[in-house]
This record gives sequence, C-alpha cells and structure tokens, in this order.
Amino acid sequence: MRFDLFSIFPEVFDPYINLSILKKALENQVIEIRTFDIRDWATDKHHTTDDTPFGGGGGMVMKPEPIFSAIEEIEGRPPACPVILLSPQGELLNHQLAEELSHEESLALICGRYEGVDERVLEHLVTREISIGDYVLSGGELPALILIEAITRLLPGALGDPTGASDDSFASGLLEYPHYTRPAEFRGWKVPEVLLSGNHREIDSWRRKQALKRTLLQRPDLFDLRKLAKGDSKLLLELAEEIELPAFIKNFLGGRE
Ligand code: SAH
Repeated sequence: MRFDLFSIFPEVFDPYINLSILKKALENQVIEIRTFDIRDWATDKHHTTDDTPFGGGGGMVMKPEPIFSAIEEIEGRPPACPVILLSPQGELLNHQLAEELSHEESLALICGRYEGVDERVLEHLVTREISIGDYVLSGGELPALILIEAITRLLPGALGDPTGASDDSFASGLLEYPHYTRPAEFRGWKVPEVLLSGNHREIDSWRRKQALKRTLLQRPDLFDLRKLAKGDSKLLLELAEEIELPAFIKNFLGGRE
C-alpha cells in the first residue's frame, strides 16, 4: 500500500517512519511512503503557501493553488486515489475506518497548518476528511503518521507476530486482555497463576474473561452482544459474581436462563 504525504514540513516524517514497524513495513515492501513539499508547487518567488483569510480575522489559510497542483501532478486529474485531508472536523478515526482504508491501494494525505486549508480544497479535491480526535493540533503531520501506523499494523506481513493485530484491542470488538512478562513475582506482586500453568485452554478462557471484564468496565460502549462467542455467557455469569454488570448484559443473561 502506498501513502503519499503532502505537507509544508515533509522533513518531520523521516525520523518516525525510519523506526520500528513502519521501517520494517517499508523494508519488506508492505508499504511505500512518499513525501512531498507543497511549497515546491508554489509559483511565486517566496514559495508562498498561505495567505490571510477573506473576511478578516486572525491566522493564515493555506492557499488552494499549490495544493491542487501538487495533488494533481502526483495523483492525476482527477486523482486516481482517495484524497484525505487530516482535519479536526473530519470523521473520527477508529479501528473500523483504519480497516476499511487498509484495502485501498494508495492514499494521498494532505496535512493542514495554520487555520486550515481554503475551503475549495475540501469542496473540489478532498474525498474524505479524517480526524484523530476531538482536540486541535497545529498541523496534520502527526495525525497523518497516526493514520498510516494504524492502517499499516493491519496489513498482512507488517507485524512480526503471525497472529498480527487480530488480538489487539478493538479488532475483536473487545479491549485486549492484560499482559504479564518475567519476573513471575515483582515486589511481591504475582502474575496470575493460570498464565504459568501451561494449560492453553484455561489460559485462553482466562484471557477471554479478562477482555470481557475490562471492556465492560472501561468501554461498555464498545460491547457488542452480537459478537459474543460460544462460552462467553458462562464467563459473563462468572463475572456477575465479581463486578456489577451493566443492565444490558443482565438482561441478555436473564433472557438466556
Ligand atoms: N482552525 C481549524 C483547526 C486548524 S488546525 C478548526 O478550528 O477546525 C491546523 C491543521 O492541523 C488542520 O488543518 C489539520 O490538518 C491538523 N489537525 C489539527 N487537529 C487535528 C485533528 N484532531 N485531527 C486531524 N488533523 C488535525
């Protein structure tokens, strides 16, 4: 999958993409990342990419011409791939959206700065606006890296672990179970006995129960009864002894008795 990044600060990407999983994914040709400096498409002597807003007010606005020229020269006119603007006004990034985008062959990502981009870029060039959360940052560069990393983890061959991202939080509709590593006892705090038992059926069951438990406690909004697996009702009944279950789970369990 190819990501084309359009920014006035393209140099910020290199240090991050040359580390860890993105670096490996680049080396293994799971992904390709190209960075473009929007300034290269500014036609005036000073390579101006921003100007003051019509109607007055503070701040600067990114001019449309260099953005259109850059995207159209690289991606075609009209562009052959989705053109995404990172923006706090876009649809919120989540696992489902990352998964959906992971099926694209390539994406063009526009990183805004200042007050944002001229609205005509949104009206006539951008096909999708994506936000990484309900807060405002100073530029779209970090959001673009976040989007790339979230998508790349889902691509076959990107993670060293053969089970890949399938156990990770959100992939299964649940938060992932807790992890422990050596030492088995640290400051008197012991790793749950079952994890040391070598009994994989019991370990799987314990992990599933913990995933159900933390999702119910921390993110009940994610909980989807339709995604429950065989055996989950039994685990939920056990959990009823440990925690106060939300009403919808009680109803669900009640309905099954
Ligand atoms: N004035 C704008 C915010 C501009 S922030 C408004 O109020 O909506 C400058 C740039 O940072 C944006 O163009 C966008 O590319 C990026 N950005 C800021 N916050 C973001 C977020 N939560 N998600 C994605 N991109 C964001």
